[in-house]
Amino acid sequence: MASHIVGYPRMGPKRELKFALESFWDGKSSAEDLEKVATDLRASIWKQMADAGIKYIPSNTFSYYDQVLDTTAMLGAVPERYSWAGGEIGFDTYFSMARGNATVPAMEMTKWFDTNYHFIVPELGPNTKFSYSSHKAVNEYKEAKALGVDTVPVLIGPVSYLLLSKPAKGVEKGFPLLSLLSSILPVYKEVIAELKAAGASWIQFDEPTLVLDLDSDKLAAFSAAYTELEAPLSGLNVLIETYFADIPAESYKTLTSLNSVTAYGFDLVRGTQTLELIKSAGFPSGKYLFAGVVDGRNIWADDLAASLSTLQSLEAVVGKDKLVASTSCSLMHTAVDLVNETKLDDEIKSWLAFAAQKVVEVNALAKALAGQKDEAYFAANAAAQASRRSSPRVTNEEVQKAAAALKGSDHRRATNVSSRLDAQQKKLNLPVLPTTTIGSFPQTVELRRVRREYKAKKITEEEYVSAIKEEISKVVKIQEELDIDVLVHGEPERNDMVEYFGEQLSGFAFTANGWVQSYGSRCVKPPIIYGDVSRPNPMTVFWSKMAQSMTSRPMKGMLTGPVTILNWSFVRNDQPRFETCYQIALAIKKEVEDLEAAGIQVIQIDEAALREGLPLRKAEHAFYLDWAVHSFRITNCGVQDTTQIHTHMCYSNFNDIIHSIINMDADVITIENSRSDEKLLSVFREGVKYGAGIGPGVYDIHSPRIPSTEEIADRINKMLAVLDTNILWVNPDCGLKTRKYAEVKAALTNMVSAAKLIRTELASAK
Ligand code: GLN
Ligand code: ZN
Repeated sequence: MASHIVGYPRMGPKRELKFALESFWDGKSSAEDLEKVATDLRASIWKQMADAGIKYIPSNTFSYYDQVLDTTAMLGAVPERYSWAGGEIGFDTYFSMARGNATVPAMEMTKWFDTNYHFIVPELGPNTKFSYSSHKAVNEYKEAKALGVDTVPVLIGPVSYLLLSKPAKGVEKGFPLLSLLSSILPVYKEVIAELKAAGASWIQFDEPTLVLDLDSDKLAAFSAAYTELEAPLSGLNVLIETYFADIPAESYKTLTSLNSVTAYGFDLVRGTQTLELIKSAGFPSGKYLFAGVVDGRNIWADDLAASLSTLQSLEAVVGKDKLVASTSCSLMHTAVDLVNETKLDDEIKSWLAFAAQKVVEVNALAKALAGQKDEAYFAANAAAQASRRSSPRVTNEEVQKAAAALKGSDHRRATNVSSRLDAQQKKLNLPVLPTTTIGSFPQTVELRRVRREYKAKKITEEEYVSAIKEEISKVVKIQEELDIDVLVHGEPERNDMVEYFGEQLSGFAFTANGWVQSYGSRCVKPPIIYGDVSRPNPMTVFWSKMAQSMTSRPMKGMLTGPVTILNWSFVRNDQPRFETCYQIALAIKKEVEDLEAAGIQVIQIDEAALREGLPLRKAEHAFYLDWAVHSFRITNCGVQDTTQIHTHMCYSNFNDIIHSIINMDADVITIENSRSDEKLLSVFREGVKYGAGIGPGVYDIHSPRIPSTEEIADRINKMLAVLDTNILWVNPDCGLKTRKYAEVKAALTNMVSAAKLIRTELASAK
């Protein structure tokens, strides 16, 4: 019985790679400095796995930016605009593709399946020339070998690579990307030959697209690709690794009948049905099963006894010597090393395992199956599991009861949205095309300093409150001068829209170094939800009330919604996600009602991450959307008709879930739009009725560019062509926290002028 790790975080336990990259990009250090940090990180990871006893240790899972971009480099598929002259791709071309340069923008980035990791989308077309242009996979294999570690080189499989790419600029949208298979396989063959020559005995192809709903063409491409590679791969053990969901039965059949493949990796954490499938459909004899029992997407210590029994049940199907204990996916989606957590108490720490600890877990499972169970280790694990199950910190009966009572019944406001909007308008008396912003104003260095010093107790509470108060009053004044209709307080007291709430809710814990790569050098540090969630005290009322007292205009209360808090946290795995979400919804509901009682008439509940939690497989969409939308409605089902509920979302391609969005029943939704307005508006053009207020963003806040009044007016007119005048709001795409004041003032000035211009036009047209 052996052990395997699908992939490992690259950033380093203290984000060493991040700092090395950023310093290199800023011109503060050399390419050699960067390479040195990277080499040391790789060496320490390999050594750590080797010391733990892992048999199949991955290489080429390191990346300077992204593994899909690495594959693009390997294939020499550099888009023309980077003027690459051929030859081995170096940092210049590589980072230009990733980040753009002075003259050319970066390649597009998009989410890696349902994770918070973003990859660089390959741009391909009939004229793309492929040539072997990055020897990274072979170099890393050799590098590990020189250190005495024989690794399994990992490549993104050819079919997933093509399925994750998009037609290049100028190529027709319907271009069949899979037709490029025969053009990229020759490069794969060269890489395979070199790996063999270097001494590799195993190779791993990551083909995660196999867990999606694939039609027969796409499945046929898998068969074609691995049949074509059969001869080049002969003599090698070939592992096809899948992750993030169950594998559909049809795909399982295709996959397990491939001759060139000798081993299959499945995610048995998210793919519980795959386990049944293996048992019922059978497993090809003589092949290896890499059983992904240790969760790569979360931070919980594995329930080793449970995993061991899963593995034992598989032993009967696959045979002892062909079963390999593994992780459910690459560990890059979890935090790096628990050793660096000094803030967490011992009890919570005993419940957790980050990447470094998961490596040890996987190996302990493999040894236990081989009859060398480390009894003390298993006993300590069982004790931690038991303490987590019974800890009073985890269970709050009152919360459990309240959340359980929600199930099965619906929660929505009593009056329909158009009557509510009438009632609200009587009170708010807003002009047509009301203007507003999404919540945050620029986060200055000074603000960050104030928050940091308050946290470190270097300044008193009084000093802190007065600094924040001053900032709020500045933001209020600016908005009044700009003549914005519905104001915000600017969120100066918040470092992060989830952490701010998590810190005030019970059931949450925070790490010091629990970073997970989001894209490039950017990492996020999700809070850990370990227990039943409740809200001991009001969280935002103090600041919102203060802000409202500074103006006679409506001041929006600003909250993060339950689904977004859930999707951007490490969530407990001892109860279904929807149960945790309902608990958060109840906590936010209390906050909404306290804000209302404090005289706040407009409350925005951000659901920036609702769309990204959509499951990978279509069959699971309805269930998710049902509880997610229900959770949102729970938060505001109890307010009066005259209280206006806003929500905000950060994506525009919601065409496929528009009915769920309508079903959220918010009074007003503000939504990202300006980067892809045609896409968003097309849904209304196609006749979907939307009766609530809607504010498709009129300019992109991700760019420092100042949009002109004409340009914004033009956008508004385009929206008016498909949406009723009386439901349209005017606002930017998203919060302004990453912008500078000079940019924000100029852009908002033009935004308000554009709204006024069109109001005048509308009035004279009457
Ligand atoms: N209210 C938040 C802000 O304005 C929303 C951020 C977001 O949508 N990601 O910053
Ligand atoms: Zn947003």
